[in-house]
Amino acid sequence: MQFSDIKLVISAVDPKQYPTDGLPEIALSGRSNVGKSSLINTLLSRKGLARTSSTPGKTQTLNFYNIANRLYFVDVPGYGYAKVSKKQREQFGHIIETYLQTRKQMKGVVLLVDARHAPTSDDVSMYNYLKYYEVPTLVVATKVDKIKRGQRVKQTKLIISALDMDPNDELIFFSSETKEGHDAVWRWIEQRSQL
Ligand code: GDP
Repeated sequence: MQFSDIKLVISAVDPKQYPTDGLPEIALSGRSNVGKSSLINTLLSRKGLARTSSTPGKTQTLNFYNIANRLYFVDVPGYGYAKVSKKQREQFGHIIETYLQTRKQMKGVVLLVDARHAPTSDDVSMYNYLKYYEVPTLVVATKVDKIKRGQRVKQTKLIISALDMDPNDELIFFSSETKEGHDAVWRWIEQRSQL
């Protein structure tokens, strides 16, 4: 999908800063380095919009990207980065929880996991948290270009069982290198945000 008009409108730490125009929002979450910025850039056909970070975990704010005045992508801080202090971790946790628990126009969360590995304990906690609050979730397994075709069935089973995935939630393999999964992820986003 091509959008000419994409703006980072606010990097918010407090609900008072959230946009007030009522557009639907899709949040994107995943541990640092999982490929979230690359996914956002791929979905929006941009380079370097959401910064691909060599210093994972640096983004400590909720970044609201206005997509052509139709919806927001809300880039959630990456979790599970060892160099972040316990205090910083608690602060992120608070920012994320406040958003997920209170935001009416948040229509769903795209949770990114690495297609090559079993979900981490942080991934499992995040997924459990989303299910506890009954947030519609799309699980996207990133970097699928790095695994062999033959490994996909095994990785699918591993991810579904490690997360104990709700049968209503979908799992999509994605690659920012080959663009695999681009259309499927967009279909989910459009359906959730009723575009
Ligand atoms: P973020 O910290 O979650 O925003 O992760 P980035 O998007 O910055 O990606 C982290 C690293 O993984 C970078 O070196 C990317 O080039 C690489 N990467 C991200 N997505 C893919 C992918 O689909 N395939 C491959 N091969 N590498 C990827």
